[in-house]
Amino acid sequence: MRKKIIFATALAYIFSVIYVCATAYGISHAGDWPLAILAASSVCFMIIIMKEIVTASAERGLCGMNAPQAGCGMLKAILNTSDDGIIVLDNDRHVLAVNRQLLEMWDKSETIGCIENGIEVEKSIVKYFADPDSFISWSIGSSHSSCTERYKAELLDGRIFDISASPLMNGTQKSGSVWKLTDITSRIKAEEELQKSEERYRTLVELCPDAIFVGSKGKIIFCNMAGARLLGADSQEEIYQREIGDFVHLDKRSSIKKNFDSLIRNELRQLTVEHRIIQLDGKSIEIEAVCSTVPHMGEKAVLALVRDVSDKKHSEELKRRFDENIQLVNETLKYDKIRTEYFANISHEIKTPLNVMLGTLQLFELILNEQEDNESTGRMKRYASIMKQNSFRLLRMLNNLIYITEIDSGFIDMNYQNHDLVQLVRDITGASAKFMERKGAQLETCMEIPYIELACDSDKVKRILLNLLSNAVKFTEKGDKIYVSVYSEDDFACISVKDTGIGIQEDMKELIFERFRQVDKSFTRRCEGSGIGLYLAKSLAEMHGGAIEVTSKYGEGSEFVVKLPIWQVGDDETAVAAEETSSSYMVGVEFSDIY
Ligand code: ADP
Repeated sequence: MRKKIIFATALAYIFSVIYVCATAYGISHAGDWPLAILAASSVCFMIIIMKEIVTASAERGLCGMNAPQAGCGMLKAILNTSDDGIIVLDNDRHVLAVNRQLLEMWDKSETIGCIENGIEVEKSIVKYFADPDSFISWSIGSSHSSCTERYKAELLDGRIFDISASPLMNGTQKSGSVWKLTDITSRIKAEEELQKSEERYRTLVELCPDAIFVGSKGKIIFCNMAGARLLGADSQEEIYQREIGDFVHLDKRSSIKKNFDSLIRNELRQLTVEHRIIQLDGKSIEIEAVCSTVPHMGEKAVLALVRDVSDKKHSEELKRRFDENIQLVNETLKYDKIRTEYFANISHEIKTPLNVMLGTLQLFELILNEQEDNESTGRMKRYASIMKQNSFRLLRMLNNLIYITEIDSGFIDMNYQNHDLVQLVRDITGASAKFMERKGAQLETCMEIPYIELACDSDKVKRILLNLLSNAVKFTEKGDKIYVSVYSEDDFACISVKDTGIGIQEDMKELIFERFRQVDKSFTRRCEGSGIGLYLAKSLAEMHGGAIEVTSKYGEGSEFVVKLPIWQVGDDETAVAAEETSSSYMVGVEFSDIY
């Protein structure tokens, strides 16, 4: 530019002088127009150049005095093409040029005074920096560096700038530096937001009680801690990059892969699977997984939310088995009911002809008794007695079976009548005495009270007592004693049957009251019995609102006490008196298996 000015000024001056001289010496006349035109155009050209100088001076705010020789306009144009703010500095960090974007980064009114050509850059802009000292020391350092230096500047107004200082080379010499200022406030804020949301997401994923897996190309590329634990690992790192197939049963691998491929190809949007997986230690567990896809490195990866359902499956299995068992029990009960009813029916059916036979036998005995005693009638009486005893045994068994089925099915009728319990016991013991004597047992009765009236079903009380007496006879030796006593205790009347027989072992005391329980089950046991007598006696006592208790010392004897509540029925409550079975008949039946 300077050369242009000098050249134009000189040219105008020369032509003006030639024209003036030529006119003065008459070489040229005022009308010599070509010379005049040349002179005039030189003056015009000079004027244009001068104008350009004035314009250039006006633009000195954007272009430094020492701007590169390539031309200030071109430099300005280049600098303004950048989106970033640019400052060109000399080696002493004096501002040579700034672009428009940089000026726009600051408030215009402030800018005019703050970034001036020739001023040290720190002085221009340092007042905007949150930490001016660190900025100044970086600025000084960068001016000595021959490579690009970066600085993250925080401004007082909250903005953040990324400043990079690159060396400005003049051949091999560093003639200054170019600063590029990029406003990264929104990027940093977005990054911070992203980081925060990533942390939130990470916390959420880690706190999730369900296992979360991300799989890509057949490998596990991410899992949360719950996922690691589900596979039996102590850390997530143990799982990363493991083949998904390692955790799937061999026969399921191809179907799982096929499903995952369908998800990746968008043929399926979501997939729910239930199957077994193998943990690191080889144990297998039942899981339920919901799978979908997530973007990963420009591709799709499978995201799986997995839950251990072993416990659920286990409880489902237990419930299934429980339901099965309940069904089985119901069927058994149904079958048992049918069997019980059948038993009751058949027992009654058998009892009818048996009773006819017994009746006939009694008639036969009567006829025999009328006959003269001789050897043949003696033999017939003996045979008749054997037939009677065995018929009674059969009857006893049938009675017990009928009682049991009636008790079990809850269809047992109680025929409550007011009775004198002392008299009732006397009747039974009296009728039993001859059987006891026959066995060599000595019976002693002791009635502590002369009379005790209570409501009871006499047949059933007799049955209880007969069972206890027959047991006492069965489990005593010749010469042993049997004591029967009646007394009252609080609101109960008690019948005690005590013997000095073999006694009962401690661990059998409870069991003997169970159905079909016998201490000695061997075929060589000392007595006949079906093991239902005490069960029946206990059930009948409980039906009266009472109980049976046993005390015994093995080898020394036993005592059974029947407790019956003392109460009476009013006349209107008295059930229609059922025909009472005679005590001697009952004793005959009950003692039939003692011989
Ligand atoms: P069973 O009809 O076989 O006698 P019970 O139910 O009446 O059945 O008795 C069950 C078992 O209790 C008997 O087999 C016997 O082992 C035991 N038991 C009952 N009473 C006595 C007793 N007085 N002394 C010793 N053992 C007894």
